[in-house]
Amino acid sequence: MSDCLFCKIVAGEIPSSQVFADETAVGFLDIEPLHRGHTLLVPRRHVADGLTDPSVWDELAVGLVSVGQRLRAALGATGINILSNAGADAGQSVFHFHVHLIPRYPDHPGMADLMTRDARAEDLSQLAALIRG
Ligand code: 5GP
Ligand code: ZN
Repeated sequence: MSDCLFCKIVAGEIPSSQVFADETAVGFLDIEPLHRGHTLLVPRRHVADGLTDPSVWDELAVGLVSVGQRLRAALGATGINILSNAGADAGQSVFHFHVHLIPRYPDHPGMADLMTRDARAEDLSQLAALIRG
């Protein structure tokens, strides 16, 4: 889709701090991280949300496990929230399917603190390089 932000990121027309790429999916750091290493994983093809086409989940599966393992190994995340907002009333703001991988650390654990932003300001391209390994 020509006016879709995440299609443009997938195509490289808008820069992102990429942590993963394969034939079907791309992973990159969220520009407004809730917690350090907050990553978005998206299918290369445009699909509005995760309830549009069941096969789109398969397209993310390898990336999901790969990125999750790297967030543990590279950043020392001791937990990861994996979630996807489907529909505006669920909080979806970009209508190209994406899964959030939100690393969690022992100093701010639990669901109650999920939305309490604690990521410090840092260079996201350097952080992406650290995650890629
Ligand atoms: P949603 O609210 O749709 O579940 O999540 C959209 C996410 O995209 C938000 O967490 C937001 O910070 C992130 N986001 C919005 N614009 C950009 C952008 O231009 N680049 C990146 N990397 N993330 C973005
Ligand atoms: Zn798109």
